[in-house]
Amino acid sequence: MLQSKLFSKTQREDPREEESVNAKLLIRAGYVDKTMAGVYAFLPLGWRVISKIAGIIRKEMEAVGGEEILMPTLQPKKNWETTGRYDTYDTLFKFQSFYTKTDYVLGPTHEEIVSPLISRFVSSYKDLPVYVFQIQNKFRDEKRSKSGLLRGREFLMKDLYSFHADEKELEKFYEKVSRAYVKIFRLAGIGKITYLTYASGGDFSKYSHEFQTITPAGEDVIYLCEKCKVAVNREIIDDLHGACPVCGNKNLKEEKAIEVGNIFKLKTRFSSAFGLKFAGADSRDGDVLMGCYGIGLNRLMGTIVEVSHDDKGIIWPESVAPFKFHIIELKKGKGRKLYEELVKSGAEVLYDDRDSTAGEKFADADLIGIPWRLVVSDKTGEKVEIKKRGENKSKIVSYGFVRQLL
Ligand code: ATP
Ligand code: MG
Repeated sequence: MLQSKLFSKTQREDPREEESVNAKLLIRAGYVDKTMAGVYAFLPLGWRVISKIAGIIRKEMEAVGGEEILMPTLQPKKNWETTGRYDTYDTLFKFQSFYTKTDYVLGPTHEEIVSPLISRFVSSYKDLPVYVFQIQNKFRDEKRSKSGLLRGREFLMKDLYSFHADEKELEKFYEKVSRAYVKIFRLAGIGKITYLTYASGGDFSKYSHEFQTITPAGEDVIYLCEKCKVAVNREIIDDLHGACPVCGNKNLKEEKAIEVGNIFKLKTRFSSAFGLKFAGADSRDGDVLMGCYGIGLNRLMGTIVEVSHDDKGIIWPESVAPFKFHIIELKKGKGRKLYEELVKSGAEVLYDDRDSTAGEKFADADLIGIPWRLVVSDKTGEKVEIKKRGENKSKIVSYGFVRQLL
């Protein structure tokens, strides 16, 4: 892509009314635009990052057998009355049709839609298990939204729901998704600082689990067992008398963290409300057992920025970067040949063909944070100066060397 054609521009100054590092950098670099508090538009660069993240998640959800669907955001009030959550879900957006006076909610999550949906297709144990997921906008009337992309009032979530005939099956699938999450966060570049964290299981299970990424920017507090590499959240630390649930170690380290995902056994909480039953092999009816599994895409993108930046800008892991290469030409037209060669080889390249000064181009490249910076000038001749974002050393290499990085 030609940078001269990118309608979004970088900004020198921090945006006013943003406190978080992720929102400051993502706005300044032209990844997102703030519509209002807690609501962001994704610009071309930002949408590319979201698409990369979605691609990583989608692949792993399909690998565990998930079938992708898309459920509506606009949901009927009556489904929320059926589960009793219309009056208890604290961040629910509620409104009424001007014309028909029908009451609606904007979906903050989709148990109220997916449970009756699946009940229309499942009648026997032979129809189970079912695993469905979607990547879709959620709406939550969050009290505070000072953390940029980490806590939005509208945000993208991947939500997976599983439906089982027996508890052992649910348990097995839950473990499988847990492993898929470990892989997703590793592929997204935050594996080493993201921990499986024990959380409250609600009324139905002993525990649920969160995936918490350690960073001072986090709103949550977790207690980390460095031996087992698992953590406990604040909600249940007292119930556990401050001990690791795996090894009993009492020497846990308190850390700030961001919840990037979670997995939860719902068991029959929603199936019983919607009459989601199946006939077993012995012809006796049973309530379907459910699990739900979420990952916030905006939050994951914001988290990556929080844990991977320096004072000049973002440092994207290659797997989620909007482009792999950023060509900076210091002489008009000098980068064209390299750009065309790389694009022909299938590379994702941002080509800074603008008439800006070298200083401006370098500052923008650092701010935008694309992994490989390729400088071409009179000085580099038929070669190119290559530098990895986040490192100081650059070296002069041939075009062929760059192609080998593909
Ligand atoms: P939190 O405790 O941070 O509010 P939650 O427990 O309400 O999170 P879930 O309802 O389980 O979160 O949602 C699943 C995932 O969606 C979370 O793990 C998180 O990654 C993401 N998420 C939740 N709320 C938001 C939000 N307001 N903005 C962005 N992402 C969110
Ligand atoms: Mg919440």
